[in-house]
Amino acid sequence: MSGILVFAEHDGGVFKKTTFELLGKAAELGATVQAVVLGDAPAADLGAYGASTVFQVAGDFSSHDSDAVTAALAAVVEAASPAAILASTTYAAKDALPRLAARLGTGMASGVTKIDLEGDAIVARRPIYSGKAYVDVAISGSPALYTVRPNSFGQPEAGAGSADVQAVSFEAPAARLTVVERKTPETQAVDLTEADRIVSGGRSLGSKDKFDAVIRPMAAALGATAGASRAAVDAGYASHEEQVGQTGKVVNPSLYIAAGISGAIQHLAGMRSSKVIVAINTDAEAPIFEHATYGIVGDLFEVLPAIQAEVEALD
Ligand SMILES: Cc1cc2nc3c(=O)[nH]c(=O)nc-3n(C[C@H](O)[C@H](O)[C@H](O)COP(=O)(O)OP(=O)(O)OC[C@H]3O[C@@H](n4cnc5c(N)ncnc54)[C@H](O)[C@@H]3O)c2cc1C
Repeated sequence: MSGILVFAEHDGGVFKKTTFELLGKAAELGATVQAVVLGDAPAADLGAYGASTVFQVAGDFSSHDSDAVTAALAAVVEAASPAAILASTTYAAKDALPRLAARLGTGMASGVTKIDLEGDAIVARRPIYSGKAYVDVAISGSPALYTVRPNSFGQPEAGAGSADVQAVSFEAPAARLTVVERKTPETQAVDLTEADRIVSGGRSLGSKDKFDAVIRPMAAALGATAGASRAAVDAGYASHEEQVGQTGKVVNPSLYIAAGISGAIQHLAGMRSSKVIVAINTDAEAPIFEHATYGIVGDLFEVLPAIQAEVEALD
């Protein structure tokens, strides 16, 4: 297996957890691990996660201009000649990678959850039909492009290596968009899409006050991120960026607690690949139980505080 290039995304110089996950996977596949860093971040540090060469493109990419990101990635592809590119399913990668695939005339698989080698060929698994089925795909063009759902592979241990950093220049395209305003969301400690544990509440919470009194403390006790069904978001109990599902965020945590959520197909589309699903619902016939690893038929206002007390007692 020749080179795999990882799109090493960072927030203001701090690498995202998914960057390490992808570097670990590339190393596991026995590839020469390369990475691309756009803007200012400690590129050499990626050597600790197996990157031998990091291609760094100087510039300000904070406007999230996908034309610029695509052009920068294309310049790195020319310098690195990778066999494959791995990126996480972030907004930036979901914007830029399809454009890059079109520009390079190659194939792309999005939102993959598994990557294996069959002989020398990469075979990737991706959910289709809102997660009701999976398809295994092999890409014939080169480089093969993949976006990967966060938390699909687990985190590698950091080693002691330091990567060789090579500067790559690119011709920035004329901007076709201008940022006129930035609004910072009421962010949580960990973004939902990257969260390893999520506690989500539904319409049954009944009010924002109850959502804040029951879901958020439970999430805090578990070191989890709070999520919500669309019904809860539409009712104003939680903010839009907390919505999980087809028209919300696709999440892939180790633990997903669905409290008072019926399990509509549009909600399942965003969370059914979670590794362990715990459903709490008063209705034993609720569809969510068909997908739950553990099901509790009960009132969430009794069950969640009881679990929370047990979790807090462990500390
Ligand atoms: C185009 C489209 C896109 C959509 N996108 C999304 C999306 O991205 N995400 C999403 O979530 N939905 C989405 N929906 C909406 C989806 O169809 C459902 O309406 C929604 O998921 C229902 O939310 P809910 O489970 O909170 O509410 P409900 O379906 O009303 O379920 C509430 C559940 O709570 C249980 N319950 C009641 N009281 C308690 C209690 N005290 N303790 C425990 N359980 C209790 C009930 O038995 C019930 O099962 C979309 C719909 C459409 C048409």
